[in-house]
Amino acid sequence: MTFEKLGLSENILKAINECGYDKPTPIQEQAIPVILMARDVVGVAQTGTGKTASFTLPMIEILAGGRAKARMPRSLILSPTRELAAQIAENFDLYGKHCKLEKALLVGGVSMDEQIKKLDRGVDVLIATPGRLLDLFERGKILLNDIKILVIDEADRMLDMGFIPDIEKISSLVPFTRQTLLFSATMQPEIRKLTQKFLSNPKEISVAPPASTSKNVEQFIVRTSPKNKDVLLADLIDQEKVQNAFIFCNRKRDIDGLTRYLKKRGYNARALHGDMVQKARQETFEAFKAGEVTLLVCSDVAARGLDVQGLSHVFNYDVPFNSDDYVHRIGRTGRAGMTGRAWMLVTSYEDKHLDAIESLTKQKIEEVDFKGSSSKKGAKEDSHKKETSKPKAKGKRNSSKGEESEVIGFGDDIPNFFR
Ligand code: AMP
Repeated sequence: MTFEKLGLSENILKAINECGYDKPTPIQEQAIPVILMARDVVGVAQTGTGKTASFTLPMIEILAGGRAKARMPRSLILSPTRELAAQIAENFDLYGKHCKLEKALLVGGVSMDEQIKKLDRGVDVLIATPGRLLDLFERGKILLNDIKILVIDEADRMLDMGFIPDIEKISSLVPFTRQTLLFSATMQPEIRKLTQKFLSNPKEISVAPPASTSKNVEQFIVRTSPKNKDVLLADLIDQEKVQNAFIFCNRKRDIDGLTRYLKKRGYNARALHGDMVQKARQETFEAFKAGEVTLLVCSDVAARGLDVQGLSHVFNYDVPFNSDDYVHRIGRTGRAGMTGRAWMLVTSYEDKHLDAIESLTKQKIEEVDFKGSSSKKGAKEDSHKKETSKPKAKGKRNSSKGEESEVIGFGDDIPNFFR
C-alpha cells in the first residue's frame, strides 16, 4: 500500500514525503479512506502506531478541499494533556505545511491572550484540552457551530482523568451532524458506552489487540526492596548503555527525589510532572527531545503520548497501579520499527500489580537478577538466563566515606546486592 492510493492530494503527499514516511502504517491504511468517506471511526490503537497521522492527514484533506464560513473553526481535536495537544499541533503543521490552514492550540497553563488573538484572526482547526476549550467557550471567545469534524484522542485517558463530563458538554455544543473520530489505546466497556453515545454507526478499526505490548520491546523485571530502588535503578542505567530513557514513578514526590539522586550520581536527568508550570514542562520536554537531557523522570500523566524518536529505554521505577499504564509506558520505546528495552523494579509489595499486568498482557515478564541470570518467578530456570555485563559506574561519585574521588567501576564501594 502507498499513500498515493489512499486518496490524499498532491500537497499532502508532498508533506508526507518530506517527513520521510515510505508507506502508511496499518491504522493509516485502514482509517484514512474511511474518514475521507465522511464516516465516524473508532480507532483502537496504541501511541506509536501512527494514529495521529491517521486522523490528521484526512482531516487536512477534507478541510483543504472546503471553505470556512467567515473562518470559523471547522475541526476540533480534543486531547487529554497539554503535551499531547502540542504534539498533535506539531504534526498538523508538518502534514499541512503546503495547505493554507490555520490552527489554534488551546491548552491550559499558558496565558489566554495569545490564544484569543489567534482565534480572533480566524482558524480552521482547534487543538485543545477540554478544560481550556470550555473556559474560552464560556467567555464567548469561540464559536463551535461550524465544526464538521470532532476528534476525541486518547479516550481511555480522558476517562481516567475524569474528562468525560467535559466531553459530553463539548459534544453537545458542536453540530449534531458532525463527523466524529474517537481513538483509544484500549476498548474497555466504559469506552464502548462512550462510542455509542457520541458516534453514529462508526467503523471500528483495531490495529493491535487491546492491552498488547509491542514485539519490539524487550521487557524485564528486577526484584528489589523499596530502599534500594534508587541505587539499583542507577546501576541498571549504567549497565544498559542508555541513550535516552523515560523513568516512570507512581508518586510525584518520588520524581523529585529520584531526579536529585540521579543528578548527584552524575546523570543528565530532569523531572517532568503535572505540578510544573506549562512553560517548564515544555522546555524540559524540548531539551529531552533535542538530546540535551538523557533521562526524563516522569509521571504517567505528564508523559502520556509524548513522542520521542528512537527512545532506547523505559524504566518503571514502580509497578504502575493501573495495568493499562504499563502498556502505555513501555509503548514509549520500540516505536516505528526500532527496538527498545523496558525494565521494571518490583518489590514484594507490588506483586499484585505485577500479576494484574501479566494477566492483562497475557505474558510473563522475564525476571532477571541484577547480574542477569533468570530467577524463579516468571521464567524457567536456565532456559531464559540472561548474561548482562556487570554494571560499571561512571565519572565522579561520593564514596561511602563521603569523600569525592575518581573511581573506576565501584572501586571498593560495592553495594550489597552485588556481593
Ligand atoms: P503516533 O502513533 O501518532 O504517536 O506516531 C508515532 C510516530 O510514528 C511519530 O513519530 C510519527 O512521526 C511516526 N509516523 C507516523 N506515520 C508514519 C509512517 N507512515 N511511517 C513512518 N513513521 C510514521
